[in-house]
Amino acid sequence: MDEIQSVYDLSLDELTRLVIDLGEPSFRSVQIWQWLYQHYVTDYLSMTNLPSSLRDSLKDILPFPEPEVVTFQRSSDEHTEKVLFKLPDGNYIEAVLMRYKKRRTLCISTQAGCAMGCVFCATGQMGFVRNLSVGEIVHQVLYFAGRLSEVGDRVTNIVVMGMGEPLHNYDNTLAAVNILTDPKGFDLGARKITISTVGLVPAIRRFADEGRQLRLAISLHAASDAERNKLIPIGKRWPIAELMEAARYYILKTGRRITFELALINEENDTPEHAQRLGSLLQGMLCHVNLIPLNPTREYGGQPSSISRVAAFQRELDRFGVSSTVRVRRGIDIQAGCGQLRDRVVRGK
Ligand code: SAH
Ligand code: SF4
Repeated sequence: MDEIQSVYDLSLDELTRLVIDLGEPSFRSVQIWQWLYQHYVTDYLSMTNLPSSLRDSLKDILPFPEPEVVTFQRSSDEHTEKVLFKLPDGNYIEAVLMRYKKRRTLCISTQAGCAMGCVFCATGQMGFVRNLSVGEIVHQVLYFAGRLSEVGDRVTNIVVMGMGEPLHNYDNTLAAVNILTDPKGFDLGARKITISTVGLVPAIRRFADEGRQLRLAISLHAASDAERNKLIPIGKRWPIAELMEAARYYILKTGRRITFELALINEENDTPEHAQRLGSLLQGMLCHVNLIPLNPTREYGGQPSSISRVAAFQRELDRFGVSSTVRVRRGIDIQAGCGQLRDRVVRGK
């Protein structure tokens, strides 16, 4: 584990060891855990059933993280809220809350920047800065959980689709997920968490071997290597055939359906021929396709596909029996696309 920076870095077992090291009975760790992950308190003073000596020691050893909320934005339809956090070292990360009927889905980041360099992605365009710690990932969720609890509401789903490639920060991402699914604390079902990857093949296999019911989304964007590699440089390392083998392995191990994501770019990857290639690639597989018209970014000239082109694409997929959903990126008016709020604030759009 990395050096401990905050109280959200620790698993319940690690917290228990620490409490014992401090000469306290082990049950104290569950008390602390419940304050953190069921009551969302953000200071030790509020943990009223702990001895004050323990509260004092914890304050020094395990501080609460205090990222600055640089901007807080709500979309005009009020369904989407986006926060840009400034971390103590000056890096920025984003998290987005989306309200849809009874769902409260939170989109969180796992890295500052990203090393994968997808040409259309605002985070990819900034390059890799660093991995987020376990606590920095967990805190994004707790921030919104605390806010929602004030109005009797809660986070129901998490999508790891914010800034960064989660499987490139594998250990911290999984450690954060383990904390958030712990039954004694936050207790979010693994099925309610989706990890989205650009397609790191060995990491997908490792993920499948975890034996968890976590959902997996793969950003495919094109069904031929030549076209995919133009958009996603990392595709050169793991061609689509290998990616599909890893995807099948995940399905075999978990019995779960995979989601494939396609950002549809006018004339680039959205013609009926593209759809047919995708249809024959995915035919018969336990999967679903999300079609998302591109969100334009500063350094990429591509344009979003029109609604009618997206609909035509979807009709072709239907013919292959491949199910799909069109997702219009919500909160476009607040730059809710991956990495886009940071881009606007830091570089001034
Ligand atoms: N690195 C992971 C998760 C973060 S990106 C991944 O690539 O899957 C989350 C999703 O947003 C990915 O499917 C990504 O391709 C998509 N995305 C990034 N920039 C986009 C843009 N400008 N328009 C539409 N989708 C975009
Ligand atoms: Fe990284 Fe995902 Fe953006 Fe690609 S789309 S650059 S993998 S965050």
